Amino acid sequence: MAKKKYVYYFGDGKADGRGDMKNLLGGKGAGLAEMSHLGIAVPSGFTITTEACLEYYKGKKKYPKGMWEESLKALRKVEKSIGTKFGDHKNPLLVAVRSGARASMPGMMDTVLNLGLNDETIQGLIARSKNERFAYDAYRRFVAMFGNVVLGVNRERFERTLEEQKIVTGAYSDTDLSVDSLKTLVTAFKEIVLKDTSKAFPEDPLEQLRLGIDAVFNSWFGKRAKTYRRLNNIPDTWGTGVSVVAMVFGNLGETSGTGVAFTRDPSTGKKKFFGEFLFNAQGEDVVAGIRTPLPISALKKKLPNAYKDLMSIYKKLEKHYKDMLDIEFTIQDGKLYMLQSRIGKRTTAAALKIAVDMVNEKLITQKVAVSRIDAHQLDQLLHPMIDPNSELNVIAQGLPASPGAAIGKVVFSAEEAERMAEHHEKVILVRAETSPDDIGGMHAAEGIVTARGGMTSHAAVVARGMGKCCVAGCGEISIDGSTQTFTARGVVVKEGDFITLNGSTGEVILGKAALIQPKLGASFKTLMAWADKIRKLKVRANADNKRDAAVARGFGAEGIGLCRTEHMFFEEDRITAVREMILSEDLEGRKKALKKLLPMQKSDFIEILKEMKGLPVTIRLLDPPLHEFLPQTDKDLEALSEEMGVSVETLRAKTNSLHEFNPMLGHRGCRLGITYPEIYEMQVEAIFEAACTLAKKRITVMPEIMIPLVAHVNEFSTLRGLCVATGEAVMARHKKKIDYTIGTMIELPRAALVADQIAKEADFFSFGTNDLTQTVFGLSRDDSGKFLPDYVDKEILPEDPFVAIDQEGLGLLMEIGVQKGRSTKKRLKIGICGEHGGEPSSVAFCHHLGLNYVSCSPYRVPIARLAAAQAAIAGKEDASRATL
Ligand code: PEP
Ligand code: MG
Repeated sequence: MAKKKYVYYFGDGKADGRGDMKNLLGGKGAGLAEMSHLGIAVPSGFTITTEACLEYYKGKKKYPKGMWEESLKALRKVEKSIGTKFGDHKNPLLVAVRSGARASMPGMMDTVLNLGLNDETIQGLIARSKNERFAYDAYRRFVAMFGNVVLGVNRERFERTLEEQKIVTGAYSDTDLSVDSLKTLVTAFKEIVLKDTSKAFPEDPLEQLRLGIDAVFNSWFGKRAKTYRRLNNIPDTWGTGVSVVAMVFGNLGETSGTGVAFTRDPSTGKKKFFGEFLFNAQGEDVVAGIRTPLPISALKKKLPNAYKDLMSIYKKLEKHYKDMLDIEFTIQDGKLYMLQSRIGKRTTAAALKIAVDMVNEKLITQKVAVSRIDAHQLDQLLHPMIDPNSELNVIAQGLPASPGAAIGKVVFSAEEAERMAEHHEKVILVRAETSPDDIGGMHAAEGIVTARGGMTSHAAVVARGMGKCCVAGCGEISIDGSTQTFTARGVVVKEGDFITLNGSTGEVILGKAALIQPKLGASFKTLMAWADKIRKLKVRANADNKRDAAVARGFGAEGIGLCRTEHMFFEEDRITAVREMILSEDLEGRKKALKKLLPMQKSDFIEILKEMKGLPVTIRLLDPPLHEFLPQTDKDLEALSEEMGVSVETLRAKTNSLHEFNPMLGHRGCRLGITYPEIYEMQVEAIFEAACTLAKKRITVMPEIMIPLVAHVNEFSTLRGLCVATGEAVMARHKKKIDYTIGTMIELPRAALVADQIAKEADFFSFGTNDLTQTVFGLSRDDSGKFLPDYVDKEILPEDPFVAIDQEGLGLLMEIGVQKGRSTKKRLKIGICGEHGGEPSSVAFCHHLGLNYVSCSPYRVPIARLAAAQAAIAGKEDASRATL
């Protein structure tokens, strides 16, 4: 077997790796390799593979055989390329040790800069840079960073010492510190290390390198990285790469600097190079948000050549990758180096605009554009916005870092955000700046506002990725930790007060603002039209009233796949009649109550059928778990007693007698229709009355009557007979002919197993995957919330099966249902109306099963349209279960 290669060199226009080796080299390593091939100036270096990281863990934190030797060999190559030597007293090579996983995990893992410095190499750095201050500044930063990241010393210990030194010497900012002060700091920092770790600071550069690599490997399983992975569905088994890169210095003076940029605006998608830059700064200063950066145009004036290079490089990179990129660069003494390029994170609005623009620019095809949009993320666009007509009390203005609107109570710490969110409180996290340690709190909060930092600060990047509203760099607010308040434009806001954020304008508003639904832009429409051309699945909505039906149509629903008629029964003015019907002792009593409900149901159906303008509307007959309708309080019983003229005691006794141990598996669905046929008769009558009324007005309707919870074909055929007889009678009375069909839900395992028999009688099937999941797993829909999260946390189940279809188990049953149903009726129309109908991986699965449509909640219709198109594009390769 060939020897495994663990280390990949890059630099001088050459590289062992390539851009498509992200899995092995991590995003950063692959990007650096690809840029080298493109002839773009990157500092030379080498990447240790993700495989090495995984073997390091397997081998109980020992490097795999050969990795260290390969690293030393690569280091020699870097030395040759730069013309310096690692550990050399006269002309030392310094390196950065950076993490980089397959997926970007901003700030979640460790990085060490300036590695290789010690009391001897510092002399070489001074000689080379002719700048003693710069050299000692780099040295004190290195000792603190190494001490914290690698040796585990609390960062605050160094920061406090730095602040003290500033006070003692009267320095206002770090840049005012003299060489002597910096030297003092280096010594003090080393003492802190000795005191806290009982070991002297390592002076040997190779030992520093080894410890640095260990630290990056170890940070893969650090708390921050683990939380981030869990929130972003990144598996532990990917591992991180380690890139060891020759240092270039952005802090050599005013002709040096460091910056980050996006090749297009990551918030709006506008085709405009969008970057931020700091003169005389190093490494993470921009990203950390400690100093507020300058726009990239500042570079144009002061360093025109570097600016010109940057412009041509970003264009070259965009053309090469055919996507919007996020780049990091450093300018050392006027010369530009690229440190990183990767596909840039963006808001959904920006993703849509960029995809559509790139098709128009002939960079990508429509199919590629459609595949690039994360269907889950479309949700972001459908979030509420602040009503532009409402009066707002704006108390501060920051940067519009991540769009949308959020309302919540002010909290000042990530822990408090998490604690309050656990109590179902909506909170806004207010911080001077965020750090990766705040990730849990950011996730728990509705929105985030920071006093410092730019559009590429940690808060901005992470919030955008989460689809969370964020206002960054809001210098107008000043936070007082001791009183748990912030002040802005003279207003004092306490912890617990409500504020509203507008992440699209950067405004911070006192109190709760009125929110409205956003308008979907032109790019959304264009891209969805492309998706519609590609997809094979139809997309319908689950809607029970006119308003939801209108929203659904607005989002492009092609019909209603599930109208739950019991939801119509919950309305305030109807519930008494419904209870009357349930609690009546005899047929006569029930009929009396049903008579009251009939006109209400009829008008409901008229409204919905009218709204859907001739599109199919699947109306499901009553399917309540009975207990949902039973009177709960004495007040309910008294109201009912008055209405029915029956004593409270009698009603209480009847209610008790209807108690079920397992309502979800009890007297519900078609079982109600079998025992009380008059209920279904009333509903079918209402449907046909509504249809005939509309038909008389020449309004086309397409009702599909659906029978729930069928397990045996005899249930279905009995109820079909009832529906046909009732419907025909109404049509005869009105002398009208309505096109209608009668089908069933497949939501019990037995129904799927005998689907061939049921298909003889049914005109269509619709998978009720909520109940089907409940019954396949034997998991109560109502109770599983208590323990299912544990199952997912402990990775017993990959996902909550009520959210995404369990393709192996439930999916198999669905396949059987489809195959058996269509073995009887080749063209049997089959859909899905469980919650899974709007979840992208489930939509893809339904596409591969050959269903005719999915039906989901109105707001998820665009997500389902896009997911259906993406499934069609992914085609057969993905069809893991296309056939049994
Ligand atoms: C289902 O069971 O999947 C379904 C759509 O019906 P309900 O959720 O109303 O039980
Ligand atoms: Mg159901």
